[in-house]
Amino acid sequence: MQFAEFAARASEMEAEPADLATAALVRDLFRESGDELDTVARFVQGRVFPAWDSTTLDIGPRLLREAVARAAGPNVTADDVEERLAEEGEIGAVAAGYDFGGQRGLAAFGGGDGGGGDGLTVREVDGTLRELAAATGSGSEDRKLSALFGLFNRASPEEAKFLARLVLSEMRIGVGEGTVRDAIAEAFLVREADGPEDGEEEDEDGDEDDGPLTRAAADHLAAVERALQVSNDYGMVAVTAREEGLEGLEAVRLEVGRPVQAMLAQAGTATDALEEWGEAAVERKFDGARVQLHADGEAGGKSDGDDISVSVFSRNMDDVTDALPEIAEFAAEHVDAPVILDGEVVAVDDDGSPLPFQEVLRRFRRKHDVDRMREEVRLELHAFDCLHADGEDLLDAPVTERHARLAEILPEDAVSDLLVSNDEGEIAAFEEGSLAAGHEGIMLKNPDSTYSPGDRGKNWLKRKPDVETVDLVVTGAEWGEGRRANHLGTFLLSARTDEGSDGQGNGDGYATIGKVATGITDEELAELSELLEPEIVAEDGQTVELNPSVVFEVGYEEIQRSPTYSSGYALRFPRFVAVREDKAAADADSLERIERLVESQ
Ligand code: AMP
Repeated sequence: MQFAEFAARASEMEAEPADLATAALVRDLFRESGDELDTVARFVQGRVFPAWDSTTLDIGPRLLREAVARAAGPNVTADDVEERLAEEGEIGAVAAGYDFGGQRGLAAFGGGDGGGGDGLTVREVDGTLRELAAATGSGSEDRKLSALFGLFNRASPEEAKFLARLVLSEMRIGVGEGTVRDAIAEAFLVREADGPEDGEEEDEDGDEDDGPLTRAAADHLAAVERALQVSNDYGMVAVTAREEGLEGLEAVRLEVGRPVQAMLAQAGTATDALEEWGEAAVERKFDGARVQLHADGEAGGKSDGDDISVSVFSRNMDDVTDALPEIAEFAAEHVDAPVILDGEVVAVDDDGSPLPFQEVLRRFRRKHDVDRMREEVRLELHAFDCLHADGEDLLDAPVTERHARLAEILPEDAVSDLLVSNDEGEIAAFEEGSLAAGHEGIMLKNPDSTYSPGDRGKNWLKRKPDVETVDLVVTGAEWGEGRRANHLGTFLLSARTDEGSDGQGNGDGYATIGKVATGITDEELAELSELLEPEIVAEDGQTVELNPSVVFEVGYEEIQRSPTYSSGYALRFPRFVAVREDKAAADADSLERIERLVESQ
């Protein structure tokens, strides 16, 4: 595919405001990309390398401005480019404003199909950018500059625009990961009666199947999504969908050495967890930095570590192996088969007690003085998950099984303790133990849940102790839903203000600051409804207004500024602790105290 063709399509996407129509354009482009589909599927997102690959082009804005200036001719300097950039606000528009060699070439050949430049192909652009990423050492800046100049020199204005953006990994054409997912499913898994077969380039003018996007069946989208989660490689997934369809996508496996996105957690409590799952898998919440260990090795037979190669990736899938040699060494020592493990690296003092998270960060991004830092900040691995062991993907196995596999691989003290319990008291004791040992709190995991990469879902809950609690007046509530329909379920909380009522409904002495619905058992809900129903002064649909009389003690993770509530603040993750029966509304916390808490955060 000509790069000019790609650029023309990218322009159309840029001009298209509607998401569905953009996805249809991407779908059509994918169907016509032929051998370059994998590259095109990355380019539309401004990527040269797959998402799992932390290789970067390592071309800063300054080098790019220099290359653009050079290609624009002897009268243009990098400073001129910078000046235009200040006016235009974006390098693509600046690059498109110059008269490069490609433009001259196009004119010389009498134009063409709206682009064409000097025959740059998608493959060539990709190849050059990859070479340039690999350039290191002395003189590499110069080599990068001349390679880039070579590309711009052959580019038409439209090509230059998207080339410049590609170099900075920002296409600005409204094509996000979801769009690409939908487009892959639509392009290759949904066969319309008149659509092209096998992704062949049927419609030369590209107009034939410009129809609106049909919603790909949910299972098609799910299959693409899963393959993307497992591989983090949009190019490979697009090609697999085209060549091998659903079955091919379902067969995409984890690969040792290719990181996957980490599964994430929401805030929640043991009450939430037990109500939802009946039983929870509880672990300590370590205050460190997330790591994913990939060890490749001979299956069977304990290895002395010589034939095991280990890579360590950060939460963002950056390769941090060199910065954390002892973690890699530790894994190499204990692992004797290919595995992918998930865990947390924690800095510890001489007694082995955890140090604050900032200490780990000092180690994480380090490129120089690694040996000295290794002496200064000691690291420990606490592994808590196993995604792959000895040729077997475990993403679909439950938490408990994955943990059991982990325990077979690493020595006990490197594996997080796991308590499976349905008893709140037991979980509370575990939490106390975790905090007493200097950890951050606990993680509650649905024991039956699978590992969903990149997902901040409801199957993992994090529970940190509240920094403080606040005592707030309940000034409103909402009737619950479903089995809670007869009870008030969500409670509107207010802080006291100094202002009295002005008699016109303003400044009634309370300012709203949040709603709490979390941390309350069914039993407590019934009691709260009984307590609050007599205080109802007005009702509007689900919502009731309450006479300010009952005070709740509420925990939270943070207080944020927010326009949502009349106080100008909002509690983040508010959690019901207790009714302060000993307090009247006049004894509740004031807005002034809230402001002091915000300042001290
Ligand atoms: P947060 O960073 O506050 O969103 O909390 C989620 C993070 O806690 C995860 O991304 C991990 O880095 C970390 N974490 C610590 N201990 C565990 C554990 N036992 N299981 C899962 N994540 C953990």
